[in-house]
Amino acid sequence: MSQMILSVEDLSVSFDGFKAIDNLNFYVEERELHVVIGPNGAGKTTLLDTICGKTRPTYGKILFKGRNLERMLEYQITRAGVGRKFQTPMVYEDLTVWENLEISSPKPRGLVGCLFFRRGRVLEEAILETACVLSLDMHLDRKAGHLSHGQKQWLEIGMLLMQEPELLLLDEPVAGMSAKEREQTASLLCEIARGRSVVVIEHDMEFVKAIADRVTVLHQGKILAQGTMENVQQDARVIEVYLGT
Ligand code: ADP
Ligand code: MG
Repeated sequence: MSQMILSVEDLSVSFDGFKAIDNLNFYVEERELHVVIGPNGAGKTTLLDTICGKTRPTYGKILFKGRNLERMLEYQITRAGVGRKFQTPMVYEDLTVWENLEISSPKPRGLVGCLFFRRGRVLEEAILETACVLSLDMHLDRKAGHLSHGQKQWLEIGMLLMQEPELLLLDEPVAGMSAKEREQTASLLCEIARGRSVVVIEHDMEFVKAIADRVTVLHQGKILAQGTMENVQQDARVIEVYLGT
């Protein structure tokens, strides 16, 4: 079995006594593209919120590369190598694509940080390379506000990539995209997952089939099924509570 980059163990998250996540164990391997599906209210977003430090666990452990995330603040978790994308794109509309990528590059911290700080040509190359992966290399001088909805989503993924995360968490990245944009996003995510681990929440089953190494089905804060897309699609409980509807 390959190395686990993330281990979520015995996790519970309660909101006023309501258990959004109920004693969950969830593991992500290195360079795995892991998709989380499940009906509305299953706890998918809460799981990502808890990993990235936006929501505190009520109980349980979250280990990322051997470090306990549940004791860390959101910005410390980002620095440790976890990038999170929320459902709505958050790009700076008045800045160009280039500028959006540039300001997302990590800033120097202390003396050691200054030594490794990307600047000049190194930074330019990182921006160009990221823009190419996102198919935004022809739009570097455009204001982000003038991009299509799909391109804005890609730009935000690019802004996360500039921070060189080892684990990327994406909440419904193809929502509102055209069929063509979904296809492009599928190849983009497969490309991205060659160098890091990616957890994606998604509803579009065609899209999930195209990208997932492994699928976890959440229901009422618990794991209903887990495995390859083929496995979970044939699971009677999954068909009953999710796919059948
Ligand atoms: P999903 O993303 O799978 O649709 P969520 O994680 O958003 O589900 O929500 C799981 C459950 O937790 C839902 O019943 C939701 O109403 C509840 N919930 C989520 N966040 C909060 C919150 N901040 N306060 C109270 N209840 C919440
Ligand atoms: Mg959600």
